[in-house]
Amino acid sequence: MSFFRHVIFDLDDTLLDTSGSLIPAAARRAMEAMGAPADKINTLLSQRTEILRTNPRANVWLDLAKGDTEMAERGRRAFLTFPIEKLPPEALRFAPGAEEILQWTRERSKLHLVTSGDRSTQLAKIAFLKIESYFESIHVVESAHGARAKSEAFTQIGELPASSEAAASEFVSVGNRVDTDLAPAKMLGWKTAWIRYGEHASLTPQNSLEIPDFEVASLSDLLSIWRQREHSWKV
Ligand SMILES: [Mg+2]
Repeated sequence: MSFFRHVIFDLDDTLLDTSGSLIPAAARRAMEAMGAPADKINTLLSQRTEILRTNPRANVWLDLAKGDTEMAERGRRAFLTFPIEKLPPEALRFAPGAEEILQWTRERSKLHLVTSGDRSTQLAKIAFLKIESYFESIHVVESAHGARAKSEAFTQIGELPASSEAAASEFVSVGNRVDTDLAPAKMLGWKTAWIRYGEHASLTPQNSLEIPDFEVASLSDLLSIWRQREHSWKV
């Protein structure tokens, strides 16, 4: 068998490093939208980090809003729609190895991008990084629908004319979340690669669908593994 025919990338905390600058700024904006007093925001930010570390499958906004669904939704929307033009350009940077793995995989495979969040915010990130031309298809899905939204996008990718010749095992989904990036891909029989990076690194596999075929700390490490395997893939 040869290298995967289709490589499906996630964006946030996979190709784009959001945990460094974007997430802290967006989380602060979310706390303000939820009506938190200025002197409480740092405490709430620490609480948010602690919730994600100890209970990574929690609805973090609902926990912080103490069950007030309307307040939680205000926070979630403010978080997802952070105006990225307000960040200094150096704050939006590729994750280590992102440009290298895009170049390397593009020479071998068709690439697809599946990202969840606010549509215009996600498209602005893609435009800022200038990565549109790498991809055969780009899908922005609603994050409130979680794994289901990504699942629908993955199914669409499998049904593209460009995918008609490929077996399920010739697709690989690369992402930082085992629940939304890996499980729905594995459900289709695809291979999966877990980039264990960022604030969802504590979200560990809880069922067989979430267990990755490749587990790495960075895209650089994944590229090293794929480069080493290339010989055996060809024979
Ligand atoms: Mg992600």
